[in-house]
Amino acid sequence: MPNPLYDALFAPHVDKETPFLVMDTADDLTHAAFLREAARFAHALGEMGLRPGDRLAVQVDKSPEALAVYAACVMAGIVFLPLNTGYTHLEVDYFIENSGARAVLGRADSLDELHRDCDRMGVRFETLEADGSGSFTELATFLPTHFDPVDRAEDDIAALLYTSGTTGLSKGAMLTHRNLLSNTQVLRDTWQFTEKDVLIHALPIFHTHGLFVATNISLLAGGSMIFLPRFNIEQVLEALPQATSMMGVPTFYTRLLDHPEFTRETCANMRLFISGSAPLLSETHRAFQKRTGHRILERYGMTETNMNTSNPIDGERRAGTVGLPLPGVELKITDPDSGKSLPHGEVGMIEVRGDNVFKGYWNMPDKTAEELRPDGFFITGDLGVQGEDGYVTIVGRGKDLIISGGFNIYPRDVELVLDEQPGVLESAVIGAPHPDFGESVVAVLVPEPGAVLDVAGIEAGIGGRLARFKQPRHYVILDELPRNSMGKVQKKLLRKTYKHVFK
Ligand code: ATP
Ligand code: MG
Repeated sequence: MPNPLYDALFAPHVDKETPFLVMDTADDLTHAAFLREAARFAHALGEMGLRPGDRLAVQVDKSPEALAVYAACVMAGIVFLPLNTGYTHLEVDYFIENSGARAVLGRADSLDELHRDCDRMGVRFETLEADGSGSFTELATFLPTHFDPVDRAEDDIAALLYTSGTTGLSKGAMLTHRNLLSNTQVLRDTWQFTEKDVLIHALPIFHTHGLFVATNISLLAGGSMIFLPRFNIEQVLEALPQATSMMGVPTFYTRLLDHPEFTRETCANMRLFISGSAPLLSETHRAFQKRTGHRILERYGMTETNMNTSNPIDGERRAGTVGLPLPGVELKITDPDSGKSLPHGEVGMIEVRGDNVFKGYWNMPDKTAEELRPDGFFITGDLGVQGEDGYVTIVGRGKDLIISGGFNIYPRDVELVLDEQPGVLESAVIGAPHPDFGESVVAVLVPEPGAVLDVAGIEAGIGGRLARFKQPRHYVILDELPRNSMGKVQKKLLRKTYKHVFK
């Protein structure tokens, strides 16, 4: 009886006493032990009254048990809905209401408020703590360690994953067995993962990067993961000599480079460093290669599609680009207004089609119709350009585009020039309402440690590099840029903070 994700990711490991999760404590978990726990959890979900197709919202700390809940949902045909642990109970209420979740797993410290909300909404609430204890685990303690997986079709929803909410309200992407499995297979092959791989897993597991990209690939390949609660530089430095691979957001790599003990020797056993979720600066790519000899492999994806493009494992990993469309992913660059394909070299909207592309947004038919074309192409919202040789460069998000006096300004063009100015560590360029131009350019600058920025000097420095209309009319200096847990710069927040600077 088929259950595509279970059959490919979990079934092959049921009796394997091979290492799966390597923990910093002595409690390493084998594949078989992990699956015994997942089976007990699958029974427990049934005891809680959940049936195939029901949604289970999960806002718990990263732990082997939290990952076993994902496996249990796949086995039981329940739609897994993980949530950022940073969300307040009021934010979680939105997800519960929007998804119609039948039950919630939360932490004891959210018990008072979230539990009360769940009672009010008639939703079952159980706890699962970072150490694996909680009312949910208690419920599962004496249940059988074998569970017959529920039949699922390729088109059935396996997970409801909400987007990060960087540009607006988070939307629930319906991801099917086919979506997740096809992408996992392609990525395992493209990045050449095998059972010999030991992956450093320091990402959260509520987001597609740590959950599907990292975990599913490791399961399909049969390798193990050094499973860290979060990115802690000391723990990562300790893990590197035992590992073969790591997946991270760009800030992982800048933080490693900032550490004097991160050297070529630390990485001697490593075969692959992968980066995604936010743009990796070319400068970081180069500094990393210089320090370690490794070329970080950058890829591009999103909640709705999993991964779309990747730099090659053999061949040129081109800094500042997200590489080539993955096998099975069709990618085109279109005119945002007409939707017509644009020639190579022109900036436009990135659209993608393939088995990886989600089924639509849960409970948001209008949003789905806006972004998913009838012919299957998904309008990603990201602007980019594709060269003759197929390499894709992301220019920024459509929603971050600045239109000033009728001219389009891509913030990245301005940021790249600002980043080169003396004393500038990084920058974010946004548009703010302007009485004459509609919008005008605001530069948010972060100085290098110890540097004092000379704005007049910077203005002079960019004068010859950028057309007058692209030059910032207002400068803000901050100690750091506001970022979310995936390292994404929160431009929505910056726009809100600086919306009055020209008025
Ligand atoms: P929302 O859709 O709710 O506004 P979000 O788009 O940030 O939030 P995610 O699905 O987590 O939510 O993020 C996907 C986005 O992350 C992509 O659309 C793209 O803008 C960005 N991204 C991912 N990988 C890269 C990369 N390698 N370089 C640049 N941007 C990237
Ligand atoms: Mg998005």
